Amino acid sequence: MTNATPVRVRFCPSPTGNPHVGLVRTALFNWAFARHHGGSLVLRIEDTDAARDSEESYDQLLDSLRWLGLDWDEGPEAYAADAEGTDGGAVGPHAPYRQSQRMDVYRDVAERLRAAGHAYRCFCTPAELEERREAARKAGRASGYDGACRDLDAARIAAYEAEGRTSIVRFRMPDEPITFTDLVRGELTFAPENVTDYGIVRANGAPLYTLVNPVDDALMEITHVLRGEDLLSSTPRQIALYRALAEIGVGKGATPEFGHLPYVMGEGNKKLSKRDPESSLNLYRERGFLPQGLLNYLSLLGWSLSEDRDIFSMDELVAAFDVADVNANPARFDLKKCEAINAAHLRELPVAEFAAACAPWLAAPYATWAAEDFDQAAFDELAPLAQTRLTVLADITQNVDFLFLPEPVADEASWQKAMKPGAADVLRSIHSRLAELDGGSWRAEPLKEAVLAAGEAHGLKLGKAQAPLRVAVTGRTVGLPLFESLEVLGRERTLLRVDATLAKLAAQPGS
Ligand code: GLU
Repeated sequence: MTNATPVRVRFCPSPTGNPHVGLVRTALFNWAFARHHGGSLVLRIEDTDAARDSEESYDQLLDSLRWLGLDWDEGPEAYAADAEGTDGGAVGPHAPYRQSQRMDVYRDVAERLRAAGHAYRCFCTPAELEERREAARKAGRASGYDGACRDLDAARIAAYEAEGRTSIVRFRMPDEPITFTDLVRGELTFAPENVTDYGIVRANGAPLYTLVNPVDDALMEITHVLRGEDLLSSTPRQIALYRALAEIGVGKGATPEFGHLPYVMGEGNKKLSKRDPESSLNLYRERGFLPQGLLNYLSLLGWSLSEDRDIFSMDELVAAFDVADVNANPARFDLKKCEAINAAHLRELPVAEFAAACAPWLAAPYATWAAEDFDQAAFDELAPLAQTRLTVLADITQNVDFLFLPEPVADEASWQKAMKPGAADVLRSIHSRLAELDGGSWRAEPLKEAVLAAGEAHGLKLGKAQAPLRVAVTGRTVGLPLFESLEVLGRERTLLRVDATLAKLAAQPGS
């Protein structure tokens, strides 16, 4: 930044439904921009739509931002960590930060806009509007509001009122084009016939997003608005409103700069929608993504650190982030890449941190074993091997359950695959070789040698020979490296499981 005004950005979600990845990307870019410039991130809750907003969704939003580590400087619970606690509602110089608590502000501003001639009462009914829109479309004219109520005189207003008509408040757009330089897209110009007068207060007196969002941006002295491309069409309207607000003395008079972040496309090159399962943030939390892994991936939706580096830390992101580098082209959401980046972040953790991060998936409700059968030391031995193989933490449960369950899981498909005719013979040979190893030699390397030798006696390579053993011991055909797993499971339990499998095979018809 060359000018001296401190950067102030905002993240202003509406608390409807579950947080989704598009929303998180917007929060992330605002956060990174604020942190890069040493500015402030304001969290504002746009909860003016009582029919759609919910407290549950509000709580989830705050909880999600905290989990992600996207901290905010002003807004609800911004200082929750203070020794003195928090009022829980609104903290910072522009409080309150929940729009539902700012209705008086909006009513006052709407009134002043009207008094100054920037807005007017519009009595057109929805049916009349639709009829005229249709006629305009048929005549090949632009179909926005036609200005019918722009200059009603007092007599006309009285007549409408006598008819019992209700009125909304409409903002008067200037008659000249609006031009601005989008931080992502460059210079854009909107012709007046495409951006017509628009409603800012409903007939029942409720202020609309079109009013409250720019009013708060002005009052909260927001310098940069970074938001999704879906909001681009509202920007010329908001710029006109800012100018009017400046005239009537609402805010400090400066219009923020705007940057519109590219669309995120999902499957089949359709816009990723809230309804697509892979857009739900909760899903990533439940699957055990690391916040830094998910955020690293989401930052690549429209931005990149450099051509040859996809994996980086949040500190590196903050150091490098510039909205001017955001690409205007739609970004494609690629779950496989998201997982691969998360896996890379898992591998970068110190092993103790990795083991600690696994903890939620080693306990209820995920653990399939009894809590008292969990053995931390055994888990810690296998943790380094799991760390290099997992893409998400939730997979840890089934990678280590064989250690804590009294018997391995019964996975029918794995059984069928591994227990082909002849498997019992191989397993018997393996059993006798393993039984020759005493407790002291029960280590990965000798275990491998033993299985290798048993396989050779049957003309089998190691991979084929170890398949029935793996299923006998873990219940599955895939998992952590087998011999290290056997080492941790121990001699006695391993041999018992092979015995049990041989007994089961013997009882099977045709074996
Ligand atoms: N509450 C609006 C939304 O969630 C914010 C839009 C904006 O950033 O201006 O879509």
